[in-house]
Amino acid sequence: MSNDERLIWFKGNIVSIDRAKINVLSPTSQFGANVFEGLRAYWSISEKQLYVFRLPEHIDRLQRSMKMLEFDVVFTNAFLQQSVIDVIQANNFQEDLVCRQTVFLDGFGSWSAIGPVEMFIAPMAKGRYYEKSQGIDVCISSWERINEKSLSPKIKMGANYMNSRMGQLEATRNGYDSAIFLNQEGTVSEGPGSCVFIVKDGKLITPPLTASILDSITRSTIIDIARDDLNLEVIERDVERSELYIADEVFMCGTAVEIVPVFSVDKTQVGMGTKGGVTSDIKNLYLQIVRGKVEKYRKWLTPVYES
Ligand code: PMP
Repeated sequence: MSNDERLIWFKGNIVSIDRAKINVLSPTSQFGANVFEGLRAYWSISEKQLYVFRLPEHIDRLQRSMKMLEFDVVFTNAFLQQSVIDVIQANNFQEDLVCRQTVFLDGFGSWSAIGPVEMFIAPMAKGRYYEKSQGIDVCISSWERINEKSLSPKIKMGANYMNSRMGQLEATRNGYDSAIFLNQEGTVSEGPGSCVFIVKDGKLITPPLTASILDSITRSTIIDIARDDLNLEVIERDVERSELYIADEVFMCGTAVEIVPVFSVDKTQVGMGTKGGVTSDIKNLYLQIVRGKVEKYRKWLTPVYES
């Protein structure tokens, strides 16, 4: 299906993408006054079913983002969730996809408007990111991650991604695949669109939620499965830049990128410079879970089609 044929959910209707138009003077258009979620759904060939991964958790975070930006409360969790299902069904997708659910300020208000609040939901067929490479080379960004004294990284709002943009563009300009930001304390924060883990002496270590990071759903999934299923010690604590260089393994994670090994940081090879054993174990288990192959985690899957 090409982009033009795709149906999107737009202000309560399911329409072709060319009929979804936003007022140029709206606060979302002028000032980036929007919050969003990036979801993934996985197609199970054997069950002929599409499963959205951790949909209620994404909806909860979307509500938290709206609350922190003081948007008028107009959507219930049930409505936000059902709208995602409806638009995927309308497209009759039978493949893996990513889905962007964006709540935005429409109308003619300023950046301090609290309504009218509207939404679009755009599913998009998508396979793997970084398909060609098995891992990525990253740098430490010269840009600092936004923080609670300026723009909260906890709010998944469009405007925050201009900080991500600066980090990503600098990284690619200098020949890297991506970047890791430090926070205002100078410790490791997150990537432009993902969280960071390191493996050292068999332990899994990741910066805490107070390290200027998004409350990532993939991060929280990894913490749970590493502890409960892989018997790994998981430590949430500040991580220093230098720890990245001498870690046994480093990987980044997020809904869209899933789990991506980092082969080098600032051109310093991490471990053996290949996908490490712990990263492989976590990635394999994660990919089984999202496809519904692990019974106890089927609670994290929301089926799209009636069975
Ligand atoms: N940090 C940032 C800045 C992100 O944009 C994302 C992607 N949503 C993540 C972390 C990972 O979050 P999640 O696992 O919920 O996709």
